[in-house]
Amino acid sequence: MCLTIPAKVISMKEGPIDAPVREIVVEDSRGERSIRAISLPELKVGDWVLYTLDLAVRQVSQEEAQEIIDLLEPRKFVDLSSLSPSFSSVLAKSFSHDLDRSDIIQLLSTEDEIEMEALFSEANTLRQANLRDFFCIHGIIEFSSNCVRSCYYCGLRKPSKDVTRYRMMPEEVVEAAVDAVDGRGYKLIVLQSGDDFDYSDDDLVEIVTEIKSRCKVFIFISVGERSAECYGRMKAAGASGVLLRFETSNPSIYEALHPGQSLEDRLELLPVLKGMGYYIASGFLIGLPEQTVEDIADDILLMKALGIKMVTVGPFIPSEGTPLSAHPAGSALMTLKVTAIARLLMPKAKIPVTTALETIESEEGRRLGLSSGANSLMFNLTPEKYRADYKIYPNKYHGKEELWEKYGLFSEELSYKMLEQKMFEAFEPEDPGEL
Ligand code: SAH
Repeated sequence: MCLTIPAKVISMKEGPIDAPVREIVVEDSRGERSIRAISLPELKVGDWVLYTLDLAVRQVSQEEAQEIIDLLEPRKFVDLSSLSPSFSSVLAKSFSHDLDRSDIIQLLSTEDEIEMEALFSEANTLRQANLRDFFCIHGIIEFSSNCVRSCYYCGLRKPSKDVTRYRMMPEEVVEAAVDAVDGRGYKLIVLQSGDDFDYSDDDLVEIVTEIKSRCKVFIFISVGERSAECYGRMKAAGASGVLLRFETSNPSIYEALHPGQSLEDRLELLPVLKGMGYYIASGFLIGLPEQTVEDIADDILLMKALGIKMVTVGPFIPSEGTPLSAHPAGSALMTLKVTAIARLLMPKAKIPVTTALETIESEEGRRLGLSSGANSLMFNLTPEKYRADYKIYPNKYHGKEELWEKYGLFSEELSYKMLEQKMFEAFEPEDPGEL
């Protein structure tokens, strides 16, 4: 679902009060803008509305408006005149989205407060220019904690003995998805699991088919390395995207952490999936052993080269009982820098704030992420009874979802249709069938 933004009505164009669509001027922290109000006959100057793109969809009280303003509080203005000429020139280059490796390394390496603020605010401005205030909330259902792999960082790795394994029945996955869509307004859902081959290809295809037949939702698959045939069948059944991180672009780090797997295999799969018409979500982990700033620059460039549409990058968090349990967590600040640089290079990409960032920074992680170039949130929709057992890392953040959802746009049919149309335009004009 998309998030609506509060603004105060400062003037209204003359016209019949009962007209279904009225032109109004509203003001928010970014100034004034003309928008349209749909089916809000009572609206008057001084009232507060929630709007998205150019559409006011709901009237709210000033208190409710303040609630969401607090969640989305923008970054403070940065005086760019105090930046060093070399940093300014790199930022200036970002307008053409062609930062090279050494530029990226310079941006990643800065620890200067003002330079970092300038980077975040530049990314925020670019996000606003390209996607307006178009924030979305997506959901993830983690449907199996079983995994045949032994990734060194992951709490669900096969050799982990102290984890409770669960495997949702296909009908349970379908029910959880339908509840999230019909009951809570979600429009894009990620179905994630460990690499669990106890689900046959037929099972996965059946889950996708059944969800698509029961509700209107975009489905993203995140089940690891399955055959191209399996992915092709899920696509034909109606899946829209695949979430598959390459984890690191450095083959020796990859191979040291993924026994029996190769980076090459993982990377070969992504273009195949893209060729099938999948919308690709991919990215990497920050803070892996031996990872350098240069590696992170290469990771960012690889995301761009792969032409991914959704960036998913998060800090590593140590998980008990894994070979990396004593390795320090990845840095939240580095995650924000990567988010901002990804936005500079990929102005239209969908960039969710990852749960791992929220886990190390709590609610503040959401606010910081959304004001550093990210434009969506990913909420956990795994049924309560299983949620704690999907322990890829400990203490996964979970909070305030209901407050955010309250400002999600989903019930008004007319605005939903218009919004959907806008959404298609906003992302990829040449392919209106995409998200
Ligand atoms: N089996 C699927 C899903 C894996 S879990 C697949 O292979 O794609 C989803 C993501 O969680 C992984 O891609 C990894 O980047 C991330 N993850 C795993 N362990 C983590 C940890 N300890 N800290 C942070 N992220 C982790």
